[in-house]
Amino acid sequence: MQSYAAVILDIEGTTTPISFVHDTLFPYVTNNIENFLKENWDRPELNEQIDLLRNQASIDVKDGIPDAKLIPDKNADISSSEDMQAAVIYNIKWQMKQDRKIGALKSFQGYMWKSGYQTGDLKGIIYDDVVEAFHKWKHMGCKIYIYSSGSVQAQKLLFSHSNQGNLLEYISGHFDTNIGPKIKNESYMNIAKSIGEQTKDIIFLTDSAQEAVAAEAAGLQVVIVVRPGNASLPSYITENANIKIIDNFLSLFNE
Ligand SMILES: [Mg+2]
Repeated sequence: MQSYAAVILDIEGTTTPISFVHDTLFPYVTNNIENFLKENWDRPELNEQIDLLRNQASIDVKDGIPDAKLIPDKNADISSSEDMQAAVIYNIKWQMKQDRKIGALKSFQGYMWKSGYQTGDLKGIIYDDVVEAFHKWKHMGCKIYIYSSGSVQAQKLLFSHSNQGNLLEYISGHFDTNIGPKIKNESYMNIAKSIGEQTKDIIFLTDSAQEAVAAEAAGLQVVIVVRPGNASLPSYITENANIKIIDNFLSLFNE
């Protein structure tokens, strides 16, 4: 690699097993929602989350989406809290089964994950070599940034409550898709501008072929990271001499 002043890291499939969301985060919601609702039922923040779900549910029912059901209103309806909780549980499990990317669902999941991280029930999984590389980069004066399609809040929770401890002090900034989609070269130019670096002085590590191509087109140095469970790489990546492929961050320091 040429020298670089900043590194941008993808999360899933790069710093963290690609299965983390599906094998850890999603089951955390479905397995704990019943107790979570009971324990937090009187909290105003939970009420705000349920209001979002209730609004979405009435839109879904109006739109005639199969199996959509209304969530009773806490103030207007004479429903017991058990009935309302059952309606919320049905709604969440129904939406998750369909893997919906709806704001109200994402917001509720984020709210439960935040609580799980804070109580210590959830830990972000970061590969060991990532933390060793963090030390080395920090020592070299190289800045570390995260760019993930997970929200900035979710990124911060993952790195601050990780199996390797609180890693936030290593990270100089976080970007999510508010800066642009990960498969568009403009997004990488926007990040470069925002962190005050030229694209050629940035190295981007990802498991995604499409993201790699977009970042390369923007002028970044690109490294593909191969981790257990990642998708296999297309030939336009494996045959691209400009894109380095590694299975351990520490290979970057052995040159
Ligand atoms: Mg990824």
